[in-house]
Amino acid sequence: MPEILQPQRTIAELKELRTLTGNADGAQRVAFTPVWEKSRAWLRNKLSELPVEVDQDEAGNLWATLAGESEQAILIGGHIDSVPNGGWLDGCLGVMAGLEVLRRFAAAGKPRFTIKLVDWCDEEGARFGRSLFGSSAVSGALDIESVRNLTDCNGDRLEEVVKRCGIELSKVSESQSRMQNVAAYAELHIEQGPVLERMNLAMGAVQGTFGVERHTIIFTGQAAHSGSTPMAYRRDALAGVSRLHLAIREIAVKHGGVCTVGSVKTKPGIVTAIVGEAEMTLDQRHLSADSLAAMYHESKEVSYAIAKEEKIEVDWKALWQIQPFPFHPDLIELADQSIVEICGQSHKLPSGPLHDAAEVCRTGVPTIMLFVQSLYGISHNKIEDTREEHLIASVQVLDRLVQKIAEWLRNR
Ligand SMILES: [Zn+2]
Repeated sequence: MPEILQPQRTIAELKELRTLTGNADGAQRVAFTPVWEKSRAWLRNKLSELPVEVDQDEAGNLWATLAGESEQAILIGGHIDSVPNGGWLDGCLGVMAGLEVLRRFAAAGKPRFTIKLVDWCDEEGARFGRSLFGSSAVSGALDIESVRNLTDCNGDRLEEVVKRCGIELSKVSESQSRMQNVAAYAELHIEQGPVLERMNLAMGAVQGTFGVERHTIIFTGQAAHSGSTPMAYRRDALAGVSRLHLAIREIAVKHGGVCTVGSVKTKPGIVTAIVGEAEMTLDQRHLSADSLAAMYHESKEVSYAIAKEEKIEVDWKALWQIQPFPFHPDLIELADQSIVEICGQSHKLPSGPLHDAAEVCRTGVPTIMLFVQSLYGISHNKIEDTREEHLIASVQVLDRLVQKIAEWLRNR
């Protein structure tokens, strides 16, 4: 196979895209906007130089297909859309690295397996608050009625906005047929967190995406005068929140997950009154469904025990839940090997953020992600960055991984 992979070209193209679709505040490729459409026209233009078939599915995902001897396909994915004032790598690195891999395969003649590249539609959900629009349509998880009337900050309805981009909401489920011949899925993404940088590693193999339990917890006590009520007679709702917050941190460490209390509100919320009602939010995440369930149940039990001791009441309200999506064990090993071969050292880590890969995984297709180090662990911000040598390695690793997946499929 001729060695024509040019990772330097990927970097040059990412910079070209940044100039074309960004400004002083960062990337502006918000889905369903003219800038997003401009970035996709730019991508289509690049694809037109390759012997690939390009088309958009019913959910607005853009597909490029390099036909192989077998209809069975290896799918490479990413998303060219960004948050407002976003970074120059989030999502589009996966697309542009995928394009470079596609080029290398195309130059080597007809591949054994079909190679596909997908640019998922509206991964970020920045405009309407519904992330993973295109990939969840393909997986069948998108509930059309729940998104139809979502509005953006101008009051424009999702249904009408997507229609202008050629998407008929009633037809998005037809995009599910796209997964029929997909035998494996690979996605390269920046880590968006501090783990690889702290370990001084270029890349990591992703074990899966965290499951999430998100709840509001309300403690109710008795608001009373801060001067006239002796300590022994108080029913302090905030004591429930304070004690539970500290207990939850220990529960997270014990189970190897993450738990966050992101918001606390108190009533009456004045300096001279004992808190009568305290509301806290809880976000719990874990790669294992059992451990996630254990963290949730233990937190709940602890909250009841605390409420009893403090003579207050506690009530839980579910906000949102999603199951963990563990990636394919064989593909995790192949990703790990590919990273070791190119970078010398690898690390296996879970993904805290959700990605389109989770929706692909939901369909039962063997799925894997590669993370490349993020400088300062920062993303969704114009300062988002990755060292150039790490970007080059990431394109090489993705290419190596896709080759290994092809070997793996042949031997299955
Ligand atoms: Zn992303």
